[in-house]
Amino acid sequence: MATKIVVDAGHGGSNPGAMYQGRRESDDALRLAMAVGKILESEGYDVSYTRTSDVTQSVGQKAAIANEEGADLFVSIHRNAGEYPGQYTGVQTLIYDDSGIKKQMAERINANLAALGFRNAGISIRPNLVVLNSTEMPALLVEAGFIDSDTDNRLFDSRFQAMAQAVADGITETLEGQRVTSSDVSEEEPDGEERRRPPMHQRPPMMCPPMPPVPPMPPEEPEELYRVQAGAFRERQNADNLLQLLENDGFPAFIVYQDGLYKVQVGAFSRLSNAIAMEREVREKGYNTYITT
Ligand SMILES: [Zn+2]
Repeated sequence: MATKIVVDAGHGGSNPGAMYQGRRESDDALRLAMAVGKILESEGYDVSYTRTSDVTQSVGQKAAIANEEGADLFVSIHRNAGEYPGQYTGVQTLIYDDSGIKKQMAERINANLAALGFRNAGISIRPNLVVLNSTEMPALLVEAGFIDSDTDNRLFDSRFQAMAQAVADGITETLEGQRVTSSDVSEEEPDGEERRRPPMHQRPPMMCPPMPPVPPMPPEEPEELYRVQAGAFRERQNADNLLQLLENDGFPAFIVYQDGLYKVQVGAFSRLSNAIAMEREVREKGYNTYITT
């Protein structure tokens, strides 16, 4: 059985993620995610995507897709942004904790991207990110350069295919290494085919405790969603600033443009109790919040 990899293009639809001069993180992420997936598919991996078009998804939904697919690995593609344009450059890969195959993979991806000219900003441990803590398999979030850096955008555009290859290679090189190790320890295994599956699923579940406020994926689009709102602004920049603060605190924040206002929200929940749990968490971090539908 081929290793099953779910590739996630970050954000999407009404949540474009970071924006810079008309460029949207959700578009860059989708393009790169599809290119990475295509390479992995061509190498025989069983690849699925959380989205293949510009649709809105909560981070909880993204994690739920990977869980329902029974994936062996989850890779989310994003682009980074600083507090102001040009503040930072570089690639970074986020993981839930400092251990296991995901760490090796993150380091390889960063190194492969750095070989193309990106600054290597290393790995970042982010236990609060929903796509990292609610996925039941090793999960990585690749920040493929800063979208508000002209330097990084030039690299992104001129070395696009090489970047996709760098991310895919970081994954496959690590899996290949793992494969050798796993066949070393199970020498009496008669069927070589079985050994091809790396033992990633053996990660103890306690390493990745699910966060309570994550909504289960609804079987169909719910009629009404409860959203935790942390602010509403006429100026996009003000909304972006708050978004960044929330993201830095690990919240799955996004911006919705509605009635002439940029609304900064955290999560969209079909169950009020989940929205309340998230609201409490956001409020405890010092944000002014309320629940809206
Ligand atoms: Zn992002």
